[in-house]
Amino acid sequence: MIELRTPAEIEQLRVAGEFVGRVLEATRDAAAVGVNLLELDALAHDMIRAEGAESCYIDYHPSFGGSPFGKVICTSVNDAVLHGLPHDYVLQDGDLLSLDFAASVGGWVSDSALSIVVGTPRAEDLELIALTERALDAGIAAAVTGNRIGDISAAIGEVAHAAGLRVNTDFGGHGVGRVMHGDPHVPNNGRARRGMPLRAGLVFAIEPWFMLGTDEIYTDPDGWTLRSADGSRGAHSEHTIAVTEDGPVVLSARAS
Ligand code: MG
Repeated sequence: MIELRTPAEIEQLRVAGEFVGRVLEATRDAAAVGVNLLELDALAHDMIRAEGAESCYIDYHPSFGGSPFGKVICTSVNDAVLHGLPHDYVLQDGDLLSLDFAASVGGWVSDSALSIVVGTPRAEDLELIALTERALDAGIAAAVTGNRIGDISAAIGEVAHAAGLRVNTDFGGHGVGRVMHGDPHVPNNGRARRGMPLRAGLVFAIEPWFMLGTDEIYTDPDGWTLRSADGSRGAHSEHTIAVTEDGPVVLSARAS
């Protein structure tokens, strides 16, 4: 079901987005060579408790997950690109780390993700991250009334294709509101002028994720972490946005 949010509700969603942004900044800044992924999860969990917020992940158990997630943040390293289950792993020099975090504050959800390189970066990893950020910006720019969902998808796909990358459309953007995942689905590739018309009050996450060498993934034996089929690295960028009469508004914007 598609729900349209009032300006007052969008302000509530922005409060959740500010918190999600702060947690991503804190975990990003804490990520360094020698830091364990479980420490990043603990940091995010401490911030959830201090805020009186609620994790969207810890009890999450959809059909594609092997068991309830049990952690509060996704940490995907190198060939892991989505849904990385935090585990006992110490970050190494040059690791490409994607952090994906969603939480509910006052009953409203926000969902956002970023990717970084820990320690000494490889140029190709920085380029891959920049591509997902550029695709996210292009998708957000297309999230205007008068456009359709397909215009967002096409804008994201164009950035990937121009760089010679294929796009996996198994997982993409989604409606965000009282819960983390709702309608509409926002694929990371598609045809312009197709799909649902965009109306003021729509709130959804846009989340391009690309892998350097493939568009195929497989599920790690942990039942959650999605890895590239060929071992190439992946990156992921995500914001929750609102479509308004005045254009797209990024609800999960970060100070840095
Ligand atoms: Mg997310």
